[in-house]
Amino acid sequence: MAFCRNCGAELKDEDQFCAKCGTKVNEEAPAETAPAAIDIDMTKLYAVLAYVGILFLIPLLLCKDSEFVRFHTNQGIVLFIAGVICAIVPIIGWIASIGVLVLMVFGLINVSNGDMKELPVIGKIKILK
Ligand SMILES: [Zn+2]
Repeated sequence: MAFCRNCGAELKDEDQFCAKCGTKVNEEAPAETAPAAIDIDMTKLYAVLAYVGILFLIPLLLCKDSEFVRFHTNQGIVLFIAGVICAIVPIIGWIASIGVLVLMVFGLINVSNGDMKELPVIGKIKILK
């Protein structure tokens, strides 16, 4: 059973308008907009790219002005170099590359939280000024 959202009168299923006050029945309440979901946070997007291998070049070239992006790009570059070294060195390097992956995940979590937290071990290394 539906009721008029204006006057509260009972409505029949086929009613287009309330018989009592004339309010249109099926008019949807304005949909709640979710700006966080619609507006892609470009700063975070660039910061995510900073951790995805060689893609750190994109934020490095396109988003130099954001301190947040530069911070994460720096860590992304350090991780990338660490990852390359790990790939070259057999066995020990391959094991260490698991650590690189874990740090990468930490970095991505920091980005999604909007944090500028230094990663363990590699966070102190500054390549970008
Ligand atoms: Zn009504």
